[in-house]
Amino acid sequence: MKIDLTLFMRIAGILGALLIGGLNAASSQVVISNSDEPTLYTYCQQFQTLYTQIREQSVSPDSARLQFSQIMQGLQVRFRSMEGYKQDSLQRDSLRRTGIYFNFPIRGYSTNAIGGTHGEGYRGTGFDLFDYNVRGSHPAQDIFISDRNQDNIDDRTTKPVDILAMSQGLVLAIETGWKPGSDYRGGNWIWVYDPLLNGLFYYAHNSEVDVSPGQWVKAGEKLAEMGRTGFNAYKSRSPTHLHLMYLQIKPDGLPQPINTYEWLLTAKLSK
Ligand SMILES: [Zn+2]
Repeated sequence: MKIDLTLFMRIAGILGALLIGGLNAASSQVVISNSDEPTLYTYCQQFQTLYTQIREQSVSPDSARLQFSQIMQGLQVRFRSMEGYKQDSLQRDSLRRTGIYFNFPIRGYSTNAIGGTHGEGYRGTGFDLFDYNVRGSHPAQDIFISDRNQDNIDDRTTKPVDILAMSQGLVLAIETGWKPGSDYRGGNWIWVYDPLLNGLFYYAHNSEVDVSPGQWVKAGEKLAEMGRTGFNAYKSRSPTHLHLMYLQIKPDGLPQPINTYEWLLTAKLSK
């Protein structure tokens, strides 16, 4: 079975153009739509609102779960109607195993920057995206840089460190307003939806976020600069790192964390 990446890239390009069109429409004051279908940007707004409510605990976990599955199923239907995303699961699995699909998420770094000896920093059990009080799990990989004085500047290059998209996707939501003293654990984060995988990447603790909701990003594109934002990440006991999580969207629209370790091992590196 062969995956037509060229076709896929072309569609991604068309999609990017569509998105820009959608964004322009969304930002103008008078929007006349002939369709009842939500735009992709509407899904971004819904996701951003919901995720903020979960964090503030102003929505019940049950209600959040239902809203989340509706947003994700809606997004999936929208992308499935575009030719390039009609991938079957076998194709997806083989695509995920190839090193050409994923880009290592930190420029200038490679797999030896991943925390733990064999990616054992990942602890998936007990995770609940919808209940902010549930703690103890760590369904993510932490990837560390050389920053002994904790100023977010790479000790080796004396420059900030770029956070790159693991794969192509739609930027769903971002946080840019984290301040020291805030108890929000993710700090300044980014959620990116990859429609081909039907999954969400979450990049946390950034110092600066360089993308906006509704934006289409390619694998390896700069999303942010690494930082120390987040309740625990800001503390001096925490070395400067990226917290990378991936949530697979199940057929019912609900998320299932997946360990990205194997993907990171085969990912393309950026200098
Ligand atoms: Zn982490």
